[in-house]
Amino acid sequence: MKAWEMNVRRTVPYVPGEQPQAVNLVKLNTNENPYPPAPGVAKVLRETDADLLRRYPDPAAGALVRAIADFHGVAPEQVFVGVGSDDVLGMAFLTFFAGEKPILFPDITYSFYDVWADLFRIPYRRPALDENFRLRPEDYLQENGGIVIANPNAPTSIAEPLEVIERIAAGNPGSVVIVDEAYVDFGGQTALPLTAKYDNVLVVRTFSKSRSLAGLRIGYAIGCEALIRALQDIKYSYNSYTMNAVTIAAGCASVEDRAYFEETLAKVVATRETAEKKLRELGFTFPESSTNFLFATHETVPADYIFAELRRRQIYVRYFPKPRIDRFLRITVGTPEEMDRLCEALGEIISAYRPG
Ligand code: PMP
Repeated sequence: MKAWEMNVRRTVPYVPGEQPQAVNLVKLNTNENPYPPAPGVAKVLRETDADLLRRYPDPAAGALVRAIADFHGVAPEQVFVGVGSDDVLGMAFLTFFAGEKPILFPDITYSFYDVWADLFRIPYRRPALDENFRLRPEDYLQENGGIVIANPNAPTSIAEPLEVIERIAAGNPGSVVIVDEAYVDFGGQTALPLTAKYDNVLVVRTFSKSRSLAGLRIGYAIGCEALIRALQDIKYSYNSYTMNAVTIAAGCASVEDRAYFEETLAKVVATRETAEKKLRELGFTFPESSTNFLFATHETVPADYIFAELRRRQIYVRYFPKPRIDRFLRITVGTPEEMDRLCEALGEIISAYRPG
């Protein structure tokens, strides 16, 4: 071992979904939106003068914060923005989970939570979801140093009703409860109203899925002013200029086009419903999805086999070789044409499968 290696912070990193670069592939593995961003975004990218980049951006990203605040009908002081919701979530872990008691999040959920907890040396406990992958709210009424709930959850696609989140928020006045709503626009009930009623609720959202802007990197949090100030103190102690000038302008253009946003969502939801029918006919089952993906298992054909066969055909879905979920595939809802190609391939794979 080299001498300096004694001082290295070691961690097991999060593994992002593959980003294959081939052209004719069907990419249903990282829950991206199949439709382009709002037309105003392209206009900003076309018309932005490069001279804008000579100066530092607004460290508070004020224009974007105001646009998001207006969209949700909250005060700008209740909005925090970051480089994707991963940045916002990481910052929230660093800010709110500085105590000694373990934080709580489910055994099956977004696989970045334990990575941040390990990185920041935050102790944690992972109560098991029930046999139908539902949250047991009573598990979150034990002593804790904070709570993180993805709702709808990933990779299960299941949304818990608002009462469940409220019970957890009300039962934990001494802990910050982070509600990760990356997928809520596709079907779940938002916890945003709880941020007016409880000073310990922080709702985290992203532009990556419902706004088709995974490549731009915008996430945000909404909570009471004191929570937002606490987040800003940590952000300004680490990196003041997280949001670049082009992102701020393009993000505003996205938020301003509510009609396009709603139209795109409706298309994804309609395609999800059609895909559900076809997958059921092929022998798949899955929980009711409130997201832009399906968490599907086949009655006879193993998930890892289907995953590999799809990949051979240039169709990418996500497979997690982990306890309790290794019989499932997480399939992003693409365009109707992509879903047709997927279902056609699945039909072939399933009929050709011979066990053993
Ligand atoms: N939360 C959940 C539950 C997710 O699935 C993702 C996407 N990987 C994120 C947060 C992060 O998304 P982004 O950083 O693109 O906003």
